[in-house]
Amino acid sequence: MRELRLGDIIDDFCVKCRRLTNHAIVSLMNGAAAKVRCRTCYSDHDYRNEIAPPTKKELLKQKELYEAVLAGVAPAVAPMDEPGAEETPIIEAAAAPAPAPAKKKKAKGG
Ligand SMILES: [Zn+2]
Ligand SMILES: [Zn+2]
Repeated sequence: MRELRLGDIIDDFCVKCRRLTNHAIVSLMNGAAAKVRCRTCYSDHDYRNEIAPPTKKELLKQKELYEAVLAGVAPAVAPMDEPGAEETPIIEAAAAPAPAPAKKKKAKGG
């Protein structure tokens, strides 16, 4: 794999041009393009790995899925606090003496 350098021209999806265009690398991160500048509209943006952003249709579908999940779980309204609800008593741990180590005697013979 050849090393990328600043100013190199690479393909990337341009959100402004809405298509794959030539881009010049303006910023590198770990040897990979981080920011690029479109050679067509001259706008800078993060390198998108030639991946087109989700379309409005896809975003809408995602939103519908998300809302469906929300509707399926947990009631929308949290239950009110009941008056006179008993409070759980606080149990204090009594300081117990450390248990003595068990000693084992081995009787031989008999
Ligand atoms: Zn672009
Ligand atoms: Zn462009």
